[in-house]
Amino acid sequence: MDPLNSARLAFHLMDTRRNQWKAPDELERMQIRALQALVSHAAKHVPHYRKTLKGLNIRSLDDLAAMPLTAKPDVQKDPELFVNDAFAQSKLSRHKTSGSSGTPLPVYYSAEDSIRAAALRMHWLTDNGVGPFDRKANVTYYKYKESFIQRLGIFKVHYLPVMDAGGDTLRSLSSLKPSIIISTPSFMLPLVMANLEAGSPVRVRKVFTSGEMLTTGARELIKKSFSCSVSDRYGTIEAGPVAWECEKGGMHVFSDSILLEILDDAGNPVRGGESGNLVLTTLRKRSMPFIRYCIGDRASWGAKCQCGRNFPVLKGLEGRMNGMLTLPSGRRFSATTVGAALRHLPGIICFQTIQERPDFLRIRVVRDGSHNLTRAQIAEAVLRALPEPVDIEVEETDRIEPEKNGKMRDFASKIA
Ligand SMILES: [Zn+2]
Repeated sequence: MDPLNSARLAFHLMDTRRNQWKAPDELERMQIRALQALVSHAAKHVPHYRKTLKGLNIRSLDDLAAMPLTAKPDVQKDPELFVNDAFAQSKLSRHKTSGSSGTPLPVYYSAEDSIRAAALRMHWLTDNGVGPFDRKANVTYYKYKESFIQRLGIFKVHYLPVMDAGGDTLRSLSSLKPSIIISTPSFMLPLVMANLEAGSPVRVRKVFTSGEMLTTGARELIKKSFSCSVSDRYGTIEAGPVAWECEKGGMHVFSDSILLEILDDAGNPVRGGESGNLVLTTLRKRSMPFIRYCIGDRASWGAKCQCGRNFPVLKGLEGRMNGMLTLPSGRRFSATTVGAALRHLPGIICFQTIQERPDFLRIRVVRDGSHNLTRAQIAEAVLRALPEPVDIEVEETDRIEPEKNGKMRDFASKIA
């Protein structure tokens, strides 16, 4: 990132920083203006929206209902129809969704889109008290290019490659002595265990997790291992960062960048604290905008956060568990339900569900040994969440291997 881009990143960072404290009516007016700009731009430049949004006049957020919902398979059919023709594709960076729900989806970002996303990720860190000279370790598969300011030593990140055993990375961490670790839950876990086994020699101030579902068990274990607090971030490849956890534990939506709706199965906004389907509109992304896009995850609206920020709060975020179960009757049912049943069981650090047959699920769990929940109790918790009975085998394991892309896959089906 050159000096000019670093300056743009700082500009977006300051903007979000201010926006989060704005009064709800002011935020709504800002969202309406951004939505009007997005819709008029997309109706002109994005082939798919040229057809669906033509002539649409946005006056309030109620007009959202006039816009059709877009599901992942709609985009998968022909992703290029969602790319802005005002951008030369050779100038866009291409990312791919994990493809755990089927075909990976190519997603494009312009340089400006990437800078905005980077600003939101940085906001997550800085608003959680990370300073420019904090020593940060990123435990990761990939090494990102350093930006101009990082080369000057400001917001510098030390990249530590993930080692299978956790031990080598722990040695690197011990010598680096970071105050902050940034990683995904499945990269952290071997490290967390290795540190615990060694008597917790590495202590940090805060661990930042993203990219995967963080179970209650994993959160507690990270806290215990590194004597730290934990902040999680929710994001998607399609939209970039969506929500982040503040110092008071509120998962705030970046609502100056993302217009988020929570809809019931009939497509109506949920009432009160009901859980529903997350539908995203990327207010600022121009290269490949997503408008009323059903991401496949679920959550409910939370109460106003004690921190006082006015960006709304998500509660009970479930999902990032893509895929559908096939029940014995042939009915298809979201695998997210199984994840939701397992996620908050005490002592479960991570899990993987494998559908072997329509009437048989094999559930692999990694446990921290702190709770003596029986396998039958774990199976019962899952059964209660399913509309039809199936056989469940719970298998305890030390580790769930990540996929080639470095992420842990929490659901796999062997049914064609
Ligand atoms: Zn908060």
